[in-house]
Amino acid sequence: MQIRREIRVTGIVQGVGFRPYVFRLATERGLAGHISNTPAGVTIEIQGPQDFVEEFTSRLPMEAPPLARIMGLAIQELPNNGDTEFRIVSSHMGEPVRALISPDVATCDECLGELFDPSDRRYLYPFINCTNCGPRFTIVRDIPYDRPRTSMAVFAMCEECRAEYEDPRDRRFHAEPIACWNCGPQLELWDFQGRKMECADPVAEAVLRLHKGEVVAVKGLGGFHLAVDATNSNAVELLRERKRRAQKPFAVMVPDIRTAEIFCDVGALAKEALTSRQCPIVLVPKKFGIAIAGSVAPGQHDLGLFLPYTPVHHLLFAGGKFQGLVMTSGNLSEEPIAIDNREAATRLSGIAGSYLVHNREILLRSDDSVVKPVAGRLRQFRRSRGYVPAPLELHKEVASILAVGGELKNTICLTRGRNAFLSQHIGDLENVESFGFFLEAVEHLQRILEIQPGTIAHDLHPGYLSTKWALSQTAARLVGVQHHHAHIASCMAENGLEGAVIGFAMDGTGYGTDGAVWGGEVLVATYANFERAGHLEYVPLPGGAAAIREPSRMAVSYLAHTFGKEFLGLGIPFTNKLAIGKAETLVRMMERRINSPLTSSCGRLFDGIAAVIGLRETVEYEAQAAMELESAALAAPQDSEAYPFSLVRDGRCWQIGVRPLFEAIVHDLVKGTSGETISLRFHNGLVEIFARVADRIREESSLHRVCLSGGTFQNSYLLSCLVRRLEADGFEVFTQSAVPAGDGGLSLGQALIASSERGK
Ligand SMILES: [Zn+2]
Ligand SMILES: [Zn+2]
Repeated sequence: MQIRREIRVTGIVQGVGFRPYVFRLATERGLAGHISNTPAGVTIEIQGPQDFVEEFTSRLPMEAPPLARIMGLAIQELPNNGDTEFRIVSSHMGEPVRALISPDVATCDECLGELFDPSDRRYLYPFINCTNCGPRFTIVRDIPYDRPRTSMAVFAMCEECRAEYEDPRDRRFHAEPIACWNCGPQLELWDFQGRKMECADPVAEAVLRLHKGEVVAVKGLGGFHLAVDATNSNAVELLRERKRRAQKPFAVMVPDIRTAEIFCDVGALAKEALTSRQCPIVLVPKKFGIAIAGSVAPGQHDLGLFLPYTPVHHLLFAGGKFQGLVMTSGNLSEEPIAIDNREAATRLSGIAGSYLVHNREILLRSDDSVVKPVAGRLRQFRRSRGYVPAPLELHKEVASILAVGGELKNTICLTRGRNAFLSQHIGDLENVESFGFFLEAVEHLQRILEIQPGTIAHDLHPGYLSTKWALSQTAARLVGVQHHHAHIASCMAENGLEGAVIGFAMDGTGYGTDGAVWGGEVLVATYANFERAGHLEYVPLPGGAAAIREPSRMAVSYLAHTFGKEFLGLGIPFTNKLAIGKAETLVRMMERRINSPLTSSCGRLFDGIAAVIGLRETVEYEAQAAMELESAALAAPQDSEAYPFSLVRDGRCWQIGVRPLFEAIVHDLVKGTSGETISLRFHNGLVEIFARVADRIREESSLHRVCLSGGTFQNSYLLSCLVRRLEADGFEVFTQSAVPAGDGGLSLGQALIASSERGK
């Protein structure tokens, strides 16, 4: 019996080779009908013998192409008609847009094979791609996703490319960025003043220059990288000096997984991530005595590695000249990554000696993603290229909401139905350039996702640019969300939790409901509400922001808090070295409460300890002291001793006191205990006290689910030990992995809180 049915497919099914896949599936069995892209996804009508149509329907989701993500299938029976063959028909417009755009994808193996095949017509072509790989999100201007609405629109396809593009049997059928030597984008090499250089082979010339130790700006998928030979310490120093970035670790692109394994201990999870089509930077423990210059990641236990993910990267490594290339965002510290050729030549002037550019426009910047395997799972530290704009699936329907995130490591989040779209990493919203990128991202994501949010969620901090922007949006309903509540809600949302949980939100800075600087918070939280159930005790932050840049100020604050003014006579190296005048000024500031807000920050506690043990007095980048303190703990000989904290009840709240901690640290310092061991005992102490607090709150509330979030939980030693400990104590523990535990994950939590009862 002949039957005909309509199948509507939603999800990521455009630009991923889905139509040719369906075409093959249908023609294999001689079925008739058609498929077309719709704004919602694709619609298939299929007709033929009932057995074959049933088989088609069940195979459809099972054998879908690698980049496709089917999120819904709606089936409807139709009357037969006179169709005798299967056709791919052109897109029709008009329905509300629901189709999802694929993230950018690393060059696939088949394209790589062709890239280095002298007989292939795309031999060494730097922009080779197909329906299984290549740029997507970063070249999309609008939807539905097809060539006229991408930055490939300006390149007219040559006859050969067009034939492949139109042939459903070809791997490049409707590969929107399809291109070749004859018709596609081309590379150029520019000199340090941004003038085009005459050279037959821009890649070969760039390789030569990199090999000589030059800084070369390389236009990639989501923006410019600044590249230098990672084994050449002079070149790395030169880049640091010019980029005004003395210490922050650089990521290193290595030619292949084998080289990654020479430099670092690459476990199974890390290997999977390194070779995935998202191709993120993966933080892995570095080995001793490797060829990578020590100045690439000074003071760090880990090295950030990634593999080539565009044809240009593969070509740079093809001659075998490099074991590793530093590839860092093309910007001055903390500005957004440059994407436009002219913009790059201006903004990177004085940094880059030359520019390897091309004429395919990047429409939206997207930094490299950063992940790390911790406690058996890959954790997102920076979720960006390769992952965005694929949605996170929520456990429930939510309204259309825009959440604008915090200040540092900003991301925004848009929700619709059961999808949450987290933006790419926008960065620190402290300067005009980043704020411009923020506005671009808000506008672009709303457009390509066709979401008009009725509600905007924002942080409570009145000074954040994201908050100020939200408050200026008069048409929307506004919901202010406390920073640490958002962290816990983000963790709950990622894990699909409802009801109340015990939440540990540990980080550097967040605006508290009492006006203090929070950051060591234990909450009892639902999406709608939270209660502060415990926190690290308040100490002054002498000089406000200056105390964040100078951990030595925090050390003075904690020591004065613990020992009073006598701390200057403790006789430990930190106080012996301390300029008496400066110390006395700080103490006076704190006593008189001049520019010394109170803080319960866990990040500042790490800072203070790093300074007291002589590890670091000033920092160059966020969380530097904390990361180095973790690295120190990992370098320590095994030791199960845990420093004590006090725990006292203050009204409805548990106060975690740090005096016993600093007494123990000073005691160890006087004995000559190493900084590594002290760091380890501090980490162990945190695990103990957090477990104790969780236990007390369980007794009072009978809650047994614990959520861990906030940037402090990017500390792998702390996270692994605490999870193990809480689970051993009978808690159900939830952490973040697909969404960053740091401030990059805040916007998701804000959105879920705004969609809750309180938000209405
Ligand atoms: Zn490919
Ligand atoms: Zn062509």
